[in-house]
Amino acid sequence: MRVIVVGAGIAGLSTAWSLAKRGAEVTLLEQGPVPNPMSASGDQHRIIRRAYGGQSGYQRRIDEAYQAWDELWADIGEKHLVDTGFLVVSQTEGDEAEEYRDGLVAGGYPVEELEPEEAARRFPFLDAATIRFAAVSPEGGVLLCQKIAASMKRWLLVNGVDIRENTKVIAVDAAAGSVTLENGEALSADHIVVTAGAWVLGLVPELAENLTTYRTAVAYLEPPVDLKEAWESAPVILDVGGTVDGYVLPPVAGTGLKVGAGIHKYKSAPDENRVALEGEGEQIRDYFGPPFARISEYGVNDVVTCAYTFTADEHYFAKSEGRLTVVSACSGHGYKFGAEVGRRIAEGVLSGDAEAMRIWLEARD
Ligand SMILES: Cc1cc2nc3c(=O)[nH]c(=O)nc-3n(C[C@H](O)[C@H](O)[C@H](O)COP(=O)(O)OP(=O)(O)OC[C@H]3O[C@@H](n4cnc5c(N)ncnc54)[C@H](O)[C@@H]3O)c2cc1C
Repeated sequence: MRVIVVGAGIAGLSTAWSLAKRGAEVTLLEQGPVPNPMSASGDQHRIIRRAYGGQSGYQRRIDEAYQAWDELWADIGEKHLVDTGFLVVSQTEGDEAEEYRDGLVAGGYPVEELEPEEAARRFPFLDAATIRFAAVSPEGGVLLCQKIAASMKRWLLVNGVDIRENTKVIAVDAAAGSVTLENGEALSADHIVVTAGAWVLGLVPELAENLTTYRTAVAYLEPPVDLKEAWESAPVILDVGGTVDGYVLPPVAGTGLKVGAGIHKYKSAPDENRVALEGEGEQIRDYFGPPFARISEYGVNDVVTCAYTFTADEHYFAKSEGRLTVVSACSGHGYKFGAEVGRRIAEGVLSGDAEAMRIWLEARD
């Protein structure tokens, strides 16, 4: 079977990987380089974690996500996951951190609750006076996205995938199974998979009723010297509590200390507003005090903008019609399922059972 995959973020790379392993002839088209720093998958690192609060279908699917990553590490001969465990910090009653803890307890998963003083003793960057409790779990870590993309690209090339970088698709024909490139060339295949991230509406505009594109930014911080060591051995922080929807990736394996906040986003086309604003890094940083002590002592090393696509309820979007399958990741949490998403798309395309693929990705059971 010949398959064209449009977009080489984690979804497209993984789809190409899994299809190639199953004997398909794959062409992978990417408008920029691989990895593309403009893509949602192109930043230094992303979180993987069990906790999912209200979205328990995804909580249960984490085992399969880990299994798929293990299959990938075996193929590429390197593990690009640092198992740090994760931490949530609650500041106000009923905040998201509390929901995450409750979801873990309800699912019977390992979680240890810490009183504020104990939390600040173990994680000295926390301000005990501003938190209600913290909770730690071993089931989480840091996926090293840029290393994953580089290793996957090497594996795909060795295994016969035709990767075309700097090759933008401008039109897709679902009935014919063909795509048109920016240079006017047309390519056809038995099936087309579109994993174009925030750019998907440029190719399939009718999906605007399902998908909305947002622009956000994250800040890379320089902690005070005396807290450096604590940060280097910290778990990922899935939620800092309160109302900012804030998360933190510790500096591991050569990456930086990164903070991002769910409230820091607005609707925007994927290529617009991609230069960080003056003072934006400090604005993002300041969302984190509380619960972090001495927040103004953290320097801003870099600010990275990003575009991603949301469904209304933040579940994955998947649709197949004719010779076309479109998959869009679920907002700010789609990377961790990347390898398994690729396996599911490949299975759906090769078996023709797109419904099973959709049900798994939407994770409503
Ligand atoms: C700030 C931020 C933090 C996040 N944190 C986490 C996290 O901690 N954990 C987690 O699991 N997830 C996280 N996510 C979500 C995760 O990053 C995304 O869900 C995931 O990376 C999306 O992968 P993708 O392959 O679908 O899209 P992308 O990575 O955006 O890839 C799409 C690719 O398609 C290419 N493309 C688009 N259009 C065309 C075209 N016409 N022709 C050719 N190529 C094209 C693009 O250039 C791009 O490379 C976060 C997202 C953001 C923005």
